[in-house]
Amino acid sequence: METAGQIQDLILGARRFYENIEPDEPSVTLIHSGERLLGMLSDNLGTYTGKCLTEMGVKIIFKSRVRAVTARTVQLGDGVSLSATLVVCTVGNAPHPQVKALGASGGLPVERGKVVVESSGQVKGLTNVWSAGDCAAFPKSDGGNCPETAQFAMRQGALVAKNIAASFAGRALKPFRFTGLGELATIGHRKAVAQVFGMRFSGIIAWFMWRSIYLMKLPGFDRKLRVMAEWSFEMFFPRDINLLTPSFSSPLGEMHLEPGDSLFHAGEPAQSLYAVKKGNVNITDAQGQLVKSAGPGEHFGERALLSDGIWRFDATATESSELVAIDGETFKTLAKSIGSLDSLFRGTAQQYHLPEEIQQTVDMIPEATRKACAADVMTRNIAFLDANVTVQDAVAEFQAHPHSTYPVTADGCVIGLLRRSVAYEWLKNHGLTCVDKLQALPLTKPFCITADTPVPVLVGTLMRSGVSKAVVV
Ligand SMILES: Cc1cc2nc3c(=O)[nH]c(=O)nc-3n(C[C@H](O)[C@H](O)[C@H](O)COP(=O)(O)OP(=O)(O)OC[C@H]3O[C@@H](n4cnc5c(N)ncnc54)[C@H](O)[C@@H]3O)c2cc1C
Repeated sequence: METAGQIQDLILGARRFYENIEPDEPSVTLIHSGERLLGMLSDNLGTYTGKCLTEMGVKIIFKSRVRAVTARTVQLGDGVSLSATLVVCTVGNAPHPQVKALGASGGLPVERGKVVVESSGQVKGLTNVWSAGDCAAFPKSDGGNCPETAQFAMRQGALVAKNIAASFAGRALKPFRFTGLGELATIGHRKAVAQVFGMRFSGIIAWFMWRSIYLMKLPGFDRKLRVMAEWSFEMFFPRDINLLTPSFSSPLGEMHLEPGDSLFHAGEPAQSLYAVKKGNVNITDAQGQLVKSAGPGEHFGERALLSDGIWRFDATATESSELVAIDGETFKTLAKSIGSLDSLFRGTAQQYHLPEEIQQTVDMIPEATRKACAADVMTRNIAFLDANVTVQDAVAEFQAHPHSTYPVTADGCVIGLLRRSVAYEWLKNHGLTCVDKLQALPLTKPFCITADTPVPVLVGTLMRSGVSKAVVV
């Protein structure tokens, strides 16, 4: 809530420098699972906070939870999808893994990620272990457990230190009696809400209280003075707006896409190479024809980055997908410096052909062949290897004939393709006397097309798949 208010305040302050920006753009949306804001404060203050934020232009969605955050959207539990370029997540912290591990091993009593302690801070059932702060389920003297806030954590820490000293000295342990001073929250635009010692404040008075209390809490006189001067200056002058355009801070980024999410459109500038970790992304041309379907372990984006830097096609996730984005400049530097990497990516970049380029190739084929289908033009007598022959026999075959790849068959069916390099690599790793059968080797999945595929379609498919041969089924 405070973050949403501050961002909206910043937008309102910056808008005067950007007259071409529409009044409702950019907009801030606050998604809250509860029925009203600030559940720990009174109903009136919660409702007042919601009203102030709405008046400032913040859209609030109540009783809703975020299901997924993708590179461009926030998807809600009820199926609503919101476009978003900046997502700030302020949901609570997860339990510390160390605490969870201690609980799981039975070393400490842990409930809902917190160490269960007595009112003295002594861990339940143990005399020489103590816990305080956010990681402790510390009982509150007026019922329930203490909230995870600094005002409780600091006092628990001090009490636990005194109680440890008391336990060494054989004195009685003191219980935690603090029940809280109150709660404060800023809404932005010199407005805040506060509930202190049972009294409620809102508006500019609460805002002054908020500032004074946080100023007092700052460590060091010099820091207090610096912040006070900055805050006083800011009361009389508008925000000092500076546009920072930081360069890509990390060469690698990860992103999540939901089915149907668009990653980029044709004509947009290309900024990254993408590798698919999980899921699938379809690259389609302007006619909606599939150019490439990138699954786990596959990549795309190299054509645009190695040529004009503009996407030629659209990219859309067809499944819930996890991608790794490699910064375009980093990728280009790497490709330029490592020759083999450059040739590899220039090779795979050939797969992204425009419909016109495919048509040009098709036009060069004699008309009679153009009207034929795959069954008419395929080679029928092909050399193949049986899955039961040994890798040594396969290497002898590669030495005797110039083929770089052989189909491997079992019971009359093609079960995969054996590449020359794979057979040699296998012998290198498993010894020259190795007699493993071909079925044990990592065979490549054959690229298949149906016998009735028309030759123009066949040409386009081969050009876009980057293979020179296909198995006809
Ligand atoms: C964004 C945000 C805003 C907040 N605003 C407020 C507020 O306005 N008012 C308020 O009262 N409270 C606020 N809180 C809550 C408050 O910060 C915490 O309740 C308080 O800091 C808890 O203190 P602690 O000592 O238990 O834990 P922490 O302050 O989290 O300290 C734990 C320390 O342990 C260290 N640590 C972690 N693992 C290990 C390890 N394995 N070995 C050694 N050290 C380790 C951590 O680095 C850290 O320094 C806010 C919290 C957040 C996240």
